[in-house]
Amino acid sequence: MKPAPLCTPPADAEQRKSVSPVICYPVATLPIPDIEGYRALREGLELVETIRIEPREAGCFRVQAGSFFRIVSTEGPQVGDLNLFADGNLDERFYSGKTRALHGTHVGRGDRLWSSFPYLRPMATITHDTLDWYGFDEFGGAVHDVIGTRCDPYTHALLSGGGAYHHCCHSNLTRALAQFTGLRPELAEGHVHDVLNVFMCTGFTRDTGQYFMKASPVRPGDYLEFFAEIDLLGCLSACPGGDCSNSHSSDVAACYPLLVEIYRPTGNPVGWKPPTRNPCDRSHGL
Ligand SMILES: [Zn+2]
Repeated sequence: MKPAPLCTPPADAEQRKSVSPVICYPVATLPIPDIEGYRALREGLELVETIRIEPREAGCFRVQAGSFFRIVSTEGPQVGDLNLFADGNLDERFYSGKTRALHGTHVGRGDRLWSSFPYLRPMATITHDTLDWYGFDEFGGAVHDVIGTRCDPYTHALLSGGGAYHHCCHSNLTRALAQFTGLRPELAEGHVHDVLNVFMCTGFTRDTGQYFMKASPVRPGDYLEFFAEIDLLGCLSACPGGDCSNSHSSDVAACYPLLVEIYRPTGNPVGWKPPTRNPCDRSHGL
């Protein structure tokens, strides 16, 4: 909630406020994925692995470049918090903030998940979304946001002053990454990063600009599908908020498992190659 202004508006305040915005990052010059070429491969997908993520837990999975993976709702409405790394290099991780700057607050078919500096290349491309009918609702809410960070015990302690809750997405991701990689938990924690909030329905209130959530419209059978542009290590938490209609960071909400399904296509998109590292020379003027 912003406090009431203390300063008197200048005489041309309305004129200054009425200036039209421009898009920060026009994406017309971004390499455009051949999304129809990717989607043409969906007819011949072979399911090669299914990973079940238990409620209020997280799990890791690997996806080879050129394969597809789906995050699938099963049994009940459930939100998932997704971290992605380049397999074999935890330093290259999903960059939520830059993905937001390029594609907007919520992602969908044709959008890509970009990696951190100095790599900044597409890690995955969204090829199908069974919730694409949702769009933006009357509150400004939409699904699959890159604005939230992940529920975590630090903010929980800050806001509630209560004891630690160990099944926040941050802690779930830390545990799963530590167990999967063998890293000590304090090292694994340093690699956990801002997430893609799969299926979560969020926005900003129009009057105060505050981050809000509301019951996810996801239902069993819905899924979000990705094409892996590079070899990936994924880590997915089934958020303790369940459908995030009410609360998180507790055992109150009804929670359900999520599935990660990995599919091998019969071929690759015509002309597709895994993207190379960003060409910036990193000299930074020195
Ligand atoms: Zn969470």
